[in-house]
Amino acid sequence: MPSIEQTLKHAFAAIDKRSDDLIGLSQSVLSDAESGYREHRTAAKIDKWMLAAGLSPRTEIAITGIVAKVETGRPGPNIAVIGELDSLIVPAHPNAHPETGAAHACGHHAQLGNMLAVLTAVLDPKVQATLSGSVTFMAIPAEEYIELEFREQLRSDGSIEFFGGKQEFVRLGEFDDIDMAMLTHTTAEGIPGAIISGAHNGMIGKTAEFRGVASHAGAAPHLGVNALNAANVALSAIHANRETFRDADYVRVHPIVTHGGDAVSSVPAKVNIETYIRASNIDAMIDGATKIDRALRAGAMAVGAEVEILTTPGYMPSRYDPVMADIYRKHAETVFGAENVRTSGQRASSSDAADLSMLMPTIHPWVDCATGNGHGADYLVQDYDMAVVKAGKAMTATVVDLLSDGAALGTRVLNSYRPEMTKERYLAQLREFRSEKVYTE
Ligand SMILES: [Zn+2]
Ligand SMILES: [Zn+2]
Repeated sequence: MPSIEQTLKHAFAAIDKRSDDLIGLSQSVLSDAESGYREHRTAAKIDKWMLAAGLSPRTEIAITGIVAKVETGRPGPNIAVIGELDSLIVPAHPNAHPETGAAHACGHHAQLGNMLAVLTAVLDPKVQATLSGSVTFMAIPAEEYIELEFREQLRSDGSIEFFGGKQEFVRLGEFDDIDMAMLTHTTAEGIPGAIISGAHNGMIGKTAEFRGVASHAGAAPHLGVNALNAANVALSAIHANRETFRDADYVRVHPIVTHGGDAVSSVPAKVNIETYIRASNIDAMIDGATKIDRALRAGAMAVGAEVEILTTPGYMPSRYDPVMADIYRKHAETVFGAENVRTSGQRASSSDAADLSMLMPTIHPWVDCATGNGHGADYLVQDYDMAVVKAGKAMTATVVDLLSDGAALGTRVLNSYRPEMTKERYLAQLREFRSEKVYTE
C-alpha cells in the first residue's frame, strides 16, 4: 500500500492538471449567477462536468440539486463533499445578472470549483485504489435564506417544504446514507489562509404583513389606518427588546421593509416586513422569536391595524465536529502553510451546513481569499488558486486521510460522534418552528 503522502502527491497532481478548468468553471458560474431554487444553468454546468468525468449524476433533486457517488467497492464511510449552487441578490455587484440582480457575493461559485477539485482527485485511479468507503458529491441549491415570498410560493405548490437546500436534501433522504459531510466557504477578513472550527448561529425567519385602511392622505387621514405607522412602532418595539438579549447568545435581529405603501397620496394600507432572529442556541432563538412577535403585534395594536405573522423554520445552530476539524487542520497546514491556518469562534451568520452538523460529523472551514463585504456589492474572490485549488486540496487530503487504510480514521470519527438529534426529531423541530398567526386585537 502506498503511503498517504504518495497518494496525496497523485491527488494534488490530478487537481493541478485541471486547475485552469476548475477555476474557469467557477468564474463561468460567477458570470451567470442564479439565486436559490432557480440555479438551472449553474446546475447544468455541474452536470456536464460530472458526465464528462464518467459519473452518472442524479439531477433535479430539490428542484436543481445534483448528486454523484464515487464508490470504491470496499466497505467504509460515505463522505459528502458539498458545493452550493445559489447566489445572493445584490444588483450593484459588478458581476450581478443584469435582469435579476443575482450575484455571487458569498463566493459559492468557488465552492463548486473546490468540490470538483476533490472529485477530480478521487477519480484518479491511483488515489481511488487506496480508499475504502465512498465519496458523494453534492451540488445543493439555496443556502442563502432569501426571497422568502418566492420560496413560500414553492412551498405551497409542493415543490419544496423547507427554504434551505440542505434541509430539503435531508427531508428527501439524500443524507440517509451519508456518514459525514464537509464544504468550504470563502470569506474576506484580510488575513489570507484557512479558518477552522468556527461556529454558526441558528436562525428563524419571519414575515409580517401589517394591514390598515387606505384613505386620502391629505384630506382624510382620520378615515385611514396607517400600516406604515404600525410597522414603524413595531420596529421601535423590536429595538426596545435588544437590551434583553444576552451577549453570550449572539442574538441578531435585522428586519427589512419589503413593501412600504402603494401611493404617496394614500394612507398606506399594506406594509410588509421580513426579518431573521439569529442566535447561537435554540432556546435563545425561540426567546427572541417570542419577543419579536410581541413587538410586531404591539405595532399593529398601537394604531388599530392588524398583523399577520408567518414564522418559518430557519437554520440550526452549528455543532461542527472537532475531531474531523483536527484532521482537516493537519492537512490545511500542509496546503496553506501552518502560519496561514487559524481558528475562529462563534459567528453571528447562519448556514444550513449547521443543520447537517446536528445529524452527522460535519466540518465547515473557510478560506480567506476575497475582499469587500460579504453579501455586499464589493465582495470579490481575489485569489482563485486559494479559493478553488488549495481549498480543494485541503478537503481532498481530509477525504483521503479519512478513507485510507481501510477507512480507519473515518471509522474513528464516526465512533466518537454523538448526533444532537435524529433525522425525525430534526424534521419535527423544523416543523415546530413554523406558525401562521393573525392579530386583530
Ligand atoms: Zn452567504
Ligand atoms: Zn454562503
